[in-house]
Amino acid sequence: MGLFDKFKEVTRKVSEVENNIYHEKRDYLEIYERNIELEKAIAERTEELNDANKRMFTLQHIWDMMNSSTPLENVMEAIVNSTQGELGYMHCVIIKKSVDKDGVFMNILAQSNDGLIDRLNNLIGTPGIQTRRLNYDSESVFADAMRRRTIIQTKSIDLSLRAVLPELSSETVQKIISNQPVKSVIVIPLITQNQEFGWFCVFTARDELASAEMDFLGLFAKQIEMAITIADLFQAVREQAVTDALTGLYNRRYFEEAIEKEVQRAKRQNQPFSVIGIDLDYLKKINDTYGHYYGDLAIKTISEVLKSNARSVDVPARMGGEEFNVLLPGIGSEGAMIAAERIRKSIEHVEIETIGHITGSLGVATYFEHTENVEELLELTDQAMYTSKREGRNRVTIAKPITEVSWQEVAVNTFLDILSKNRIPMAQHLSKELCLKLRAPVNKDELSNDSLYTVADMLAKMYNPMHSSGIVKNKVLMAVSLAKRFDLPKEDIDNLRVAILLYDIGNLMLPQDLLQKSAPLTDDEREQIKNHPIIAAQKILKPISYVQDILPIIEHHHENWDGSGYPNKLAKEDIPLTSQIILIIDQYFALIEPRPYRGKLSARDALDIIKADSGKKWNANLVKEFISLIEHDIV
Ligand code: GH3
Ligand code: MG
Repeated sequence: MGLFDKFKEVTRKVSEVENNIYHEKRDYLEIYERNIELEKAIAERTEELNDANKRMFTLQHIWDMMNSSTPLENVMEAIVNSTQGELGYMHCVIIKKSVDKDGVFMNILAQSNDGLIDRLNNLIGTPGIQTRRLNYDSESVFADAMRRRTIIQTKSIDLSLRAVLPELSSETVQKIISNQPVKSVIVIPLITQNQEFGWFCVFTARDELASAEMDFLGLFAKQIEMAITIADLFQAVREQAVTDALTGLYNRRYFEEAIEKEVQRAKRQNQPFSVIGIDLDYLKKINDTYGHYYGDLAIKTISEVLKSNARSVDVPARMGGEEFNVLLPGIGSEGAMIAAERIRKSIEHVEIETIGHITGSLGVATYFEHTENVEELLELTDQAMYTSKREGRNRVTIAKPITEVSWQEVAVNTFLDILSKNRIPMAQHLSKELCLKLRAPVNKDELSNDSLYTVADMLAKMYNPMHSSGIVKNKVLMAVSLAKRFDLPKEDIDNLRVAILLYDIGNLMLPQDLLQKSAPLTDDEREQIKNHPIIAAQKILKPISYVQDILPIIEHHHENWDGSGYPNKLAKEDIPLTSQIILIIDQYFALIEPRPYRGKLSARDALDIIKADSGKKWNANLVKEFISLIEHDIV
């Protein structure tokens, strides 16, 4: 081959190689571009999958809640919050369609916890949108969605807003819709058991939602409908339950209904009925010694005894924990005592594995004979039961007619009620200790006043650490002497005795540091302290039926003769004399006791201070009698 040929050969090879390279490069570029597209597609699909996953998780979460009989409000909260947070919407709310005498309206049941509502509330003022009665406009997107039973997406945020809050000025509406990122609202009607329940609304920053997303929201709304239906069913089942799960006895609700019916029947037929109250003795000890299982076993044992002793018309019920009542229709007190004694014996007779024998304390009260008021009847049953406890347990006590209850019994039962029903904040061990003192066995007919005074002193020390023991007793004795000088009837004097033990317990509801403060009080703090008579009368004692006559005495124990006191600025004879007596005695003891902000005064100095306010803070006559009473003691 000549040189030229060789050259040509090389050139051909070079161009061949070049050609190949060119083709490979083109292939490579094509592959590269295709890969990029594929990656993009994969990324999109992954994102779609992620979204689908998130939706599945959210649905799963809602399902779990629905299956665990979580209250409906909580399920709704969870729904709106996960929709908003996990699925990335601006805001999410569930609205109920309601009807009352003024017509149809809308109210918000749940809304997601984001900043949007706060901003809205700032602009619309109080009440916030959550508590407003929202207008139902039959032209609105809400009504439209409901009528057509379909999902609607609207960009007219202002129209939707104006429909529910027509009272807003167009200026405010403008302020609300400008300056916020929401572009559209999706309104989905909620239909449960064929009823128009309300709407599920989603606020989004996007103009349009993909149809898959709309479908999902529709599915989601179906879950909400299901949650509501399930919650309604749970509620209905709960309301239908008339028996207690542990014992199979009737529950409190059923007992209360039964006794109401019995009252009607008793009145109609002029026949009595009775209630037996039973409380297991020393259950705490059984729990502590053998464990809760055996405590429950003791409760079940009593329940079986009650069931086997009951006639078919009787209503044996578990009122709560270890408290039982049996309603005996048509039975007077004699028959009820026999029935109660039979129950007592049967309880004592049973032998329970491991713990042996148990006992119960019983009380009996009869309608007509003891009272004609159901609440009082149950209180009297309780009181009789407490008497059984006090007198050594494992016994039956018949109630005393409401008029024959001594003031000591009223006081003891009031304290027991306050302590055992936790009407004041107090450490459990302390409250138990006080209850124990009040339940201590005493002479057959007379209650020990000392345990009463001790408990009252201990309570007083809780809000006034400088209170010295024995003061309460002195106050009661002094109040009675003073009341006798005014010839008050026995009933008033008894009420005064109980009131003296209780008039300051409202202080137990006030902040401790406020009462202990040695620096001068601010106006605000003074006002707070002035609430204590109302707190005592209206919050703590009001629910106790047999102390109703004592409430006004306590409520007005800071009214001044000239009308400058509190809480009602009563003046002169409008103030119960018993309240005036409490005030003057309270003031006197406050002066002769030390206080964080001053030392104690002598009796003479204290009387001088009281005298100076004669005719202003107190009736001149009361001051005169009071001074004569104290001077009698001093000399
Ligand atoms: P008393 O003789 O004075 O009635 O003494 P007690 O220990 O029975 O009464 P107390 O009121 O001091 O305590 C009642 C205890 O009953 C407190 C509570 O832990 C227990 N108890 C309440 N309900 C149940 C229950 O359902 N099961 C069990 N095991 N214990 C309960
Ligand atoms: Mg008990």
